[in-house]
Amino acid sequence: MVPMIFETRCAGCDAPGTAICTTCRFALVGRAPQDQAHGVIAALPFTGRVRQVVLGLKYRNRRAVGRHLAGLIVNRLVALHAYQDVDVVTWAPTSARRRRERGFDQGELLARTVARQLGLPCRRLLDRQGEGTQTGKGRSERLQGPVFVARPDVAGQRVLVIDDVVTTGSTLLSAAGALEERGAFPRLAALASTPDRALATVLPMRPRAASVAA
Ligand SMILES: [Zn+2]
Repeated sequence: MVPMIFETRCAGCDAPGTAICTTCRFALVGRAPQDQAHGVIAALPFTGRVRQVVLGLKYRNRRAVGRHLAGLIVNRLVALHAYQDVDVVTWAPTSARRRRERGFDQGELLARTVARQLGLPCRRLLDRQGEGTQTGKGRSERLQGPVFVARPDVAGQRVLVIDDVVTTGSTLLSAAGALEERGAFPRLAALASTPDRALATVLPMRPRAASVAA
């Protein structure tokens, strides 16, 4: 029987031994991306080594990597004082098809781990509009990103929404819009953001609670 440890390889560089090696851990420290137009708090730029590690999480089903990456989101939120006023953590659910392919929802994995590390509750508060129906994912979703519907009991809640990678910001901004429609106050955070891709998007829906926290 081969011990499990020999089957573990680094998500960033494929070196055997651990789910994320020391070299890759160091490469992920202190590399917060610049603020972008979508206003999403991101822990890492989605480039180089970071990209490899994040893809390792997305495509290689690495929960140990997820724990490490969630810790980096937490560090960023703590550095920005962006968590003390949060009531509940949630995530922007991936499509049912993608969830089936990967065996888990990486946004949910990150959100639950972030919430546990911050000592906050984590609840599923968002659903994809049309999911489970024949006509759910049509042309408009492919063009504009998903449309979310928030659970009705979120009014007045300050909600931290977590996603894995933010590109244009359309997914998280759609999630924020759904929460605001129900009277909640969203704040948006992602593990990584693609550089310079979001500058042409709509203005951010800044969480109203942020001014209270400052
Ligand atoms: Zn490595």
